[in-house]
Amino acid sequence: MTTDLTTLLDDVLRRNAGEPEFHQAAREVFDSLGPVIARNPRYAEAAVLERLCEPERQIIFRVPWTDDAGRVQINRGFRVEFNSALGPFKGGLRFHPTVTLGTVKFLGFEQIFKNALTGLPIGGGKGGSDFDPKGKSDAEVMRFCQSFMTELYRHLGEYTDVPAGDIGVGGREIGYLFGQYKRITNRYESGVLTGKGIGWGGSLVRTEATGFGAVVFADRMLSTRGRSFDGARVLVSGSGNVAIYAIQKVQQLGGTVVACSDSSGVVYDRDGLDLDLLREIKEQRRGRLSDYADARGTASDYRAGGDIWALAAETTIDVAIPCATQNELGGDAARTLASNGVAAVVEGANMPCTPEAVKVLTAAGVLFAPGKAANAGGVATSALEMQQNASRDAWSFDYAESRLAEIMVGIHDRCAETADEYGAPGDYVLGANIAGFTRVADAMIAMGVI
Ligand code: GLU
Repeated sequence: MTTDLTTLLDDVLRRNAGEPEFHQAAREVFDSLGPVIARNPRYAEAAVLERLCEPERQIIFRVPWTDDAGRVQINRGFRVEFNSALGPFKGGLRFHPTVTLGTVKFLGFEQIFKNALTGLPIGGGKGGSDFDPKGKSDAEVMRFCQSFMTELYRHLGEYTDVPAGDIGVGGREIGYLFGQYKRITNRYESGVLTGKGIGWGGSLVRTEATGFGAVVFADRMLSTRGRSFDGARVLVSGSGNVAIYAIQKVQQLGGTVVACSDSSGVVYDRDGLDLDLLREIKEQRRGRLSDYADARGTASDYRAGGDIWALAAETTIDVAIPCATQNELGGDAARTLASNGVAAVVEGANMPCTPEAVKVLTAAGVLFAPGKAANAGGVATSALEMQQNASRDAWSFDYAESRLAEIMVGIHDRCAETADEYGAPGDYVLGANIAGFTRVADAMIAMGVI
């Protein structure tokens, strides 16, 4: 990093004290930008990076609601509207007890570059709450969502800010949020939220998009080394929406996913996971992986508290796709994967690999796809949902999936070509950061100092 960039980064860290994930995300981007700033002095002259690191608007609000026992509960709501140079703020809402302003800022910052990489007209934002949907009744989740939207609605709009789901926010929550927005505003504004139900403005393939897209990206990346998913053995961490559809796409491409995980443990099915059963337990019953293992019997080896990446030392693994949460794959796990011949690590979640893990993997020559490129399929399909809403149209599954695949291949190739152009072939982190940055930066410069 140049001295100018180091000074600038130090300033960002100082001004945003106590936000380690945001620091991590910012440092990773700054690490890549030296060559592009050197080639284009106008970026420094227009203070683009300084402006990019300061969200356009940050909203923090109280979310009071009443639980089933009649007790008043208080949570904190966030929306960080990071950058709208390319389109309305766009990004999901995360409901999880660990959510803080720093978490939302890291996710929002990543989202700027991810959304730019899609080539679609969407800016970057993110939101959420420290509300924990786990163990809550439907009625409690509804009351929480209604209260959350009662405050947030004034900041949203199809041309202003368009939230969607993330961890803890799926179809059920989007339904309650949309209902409350519609009620308060007296407008059926379909394009204000994405991830809606298929019968009321949602897009086919949106549910599958993040997992499918990550695997399409991975497939394209593997092909640069003459490899494919056909016959590959794969680890997919997590067992939520991203993981489930990553598993499905790997299976469709002829690979075998032998393990997945949740916060309590790992299931290892040496001959491959039973996706129908997994979906039934997770999507219909909102159950745990231990329930999956019980139902699967001897075909499944459940390891309470286990580490999914350690399996690479036990059985042949070709590809690892972390789809759970940030910093879930550290240096030791990366060493296990690299020393056991894993060909590629593809981030399905946002920033699941620690900086040390990324260093270990790339030094060992393992192909590495950063989340802001590999998991962009979700938000890209959200933008396709917005297109359908704007034209009051509904596309077929096949058409929506073909658009998604085209976008993912485009992102892959843009990252790879940018890395080549900057003399770092195969460096998808550098390629993604520079390609995302230049698109946003050029738009910001065109729009003047705002
Ligand atoms: N939460 C997803 C992401 O991390 C999707 C956001 C969206 O669809 O707006 O990109």
